[in-house]
Amino acid sequence: MRLVLVGPPGAGKGTQAAFLSAHYSIPHISTGDIFRANLKASTPLGLQAKGFMDSGQLVPDEVTNEMVKDRLTHDDVANGFLLDGFPRNTVQAEVLRAFLAEKRTPLDAVLELAIEDSMIIKRLSSRRTCKECGAPAAADAANCSACGGALYQREDDKEEVIAKRLSVYQEQTAPIVHFYRTEGLLVTIAADGEVSEITERAITALSRVHG
Ligand code: AMP
Repeated sequence: MRLVLVGPPGAGKGTQAAFLSAHYSIPHISTGDIFRANLKASTPLGLQAKGFMDSGQLVPDEVTNEMVKDRLTHDDVANGFLLDGFPRNTVQAEVLRAFLAEKRTPLDAVLELAIEDSMIIKRLSSRRTCKECGAPAAADAANCSACGGALYQREDDKEEVIAKRLSVYQEQTAPIVHFYRTEGLLVTIAADGEVSEITERAITALSRVHG
């Protein structure tokens, strides 16, 4: 299964991606996670991305596209992959389409998590993230439920940056929903309710297009 997850920040992409990648036995490739890991390790890529990330803007396409193309040449994508947070604009979507077409491994589906803005702001401003494994957690959790690591609030989950990320989503990322609908790849589900309900919804919807 070659799958892209799309949806506004806070729609629950990271959470659902973890369940779906386990369900389909495919690697979860999150561009945000790769950038944060590079930032933590102070690599040149991380330092290049930091200013854009902290202010809620997109990292330039040249940097992001090369990073994703490199990741998609690893052996673990032989049976597919789940891309989370990429593509984020139509240029990235075109680059991905061309790259996969050349390898004769086109996408099977694009899963859109649809959610209201008011719910997003509530979710993101109360979200904490594990310093160790990057898993999301609630504001009142003491430690990460996945690995026990300490929690922190992402710089870009602070209220003033959330508004910027939402406007970047509307202006730059929302058009790819139309792009993938035109390509006949789009599968949209509602992203409200319990985490397990949303996962069920996703698997049922994807089984209609992928069997
Ligand atoms: P995320 O964890 O997906 O919300 O991503 C966090 C931040 O990483 C974004 O706000 C961007 O600054 C950067 N980022 C992640 N994915 C991309 C992408 N595909 N293109 C450009 N920037 C990205």
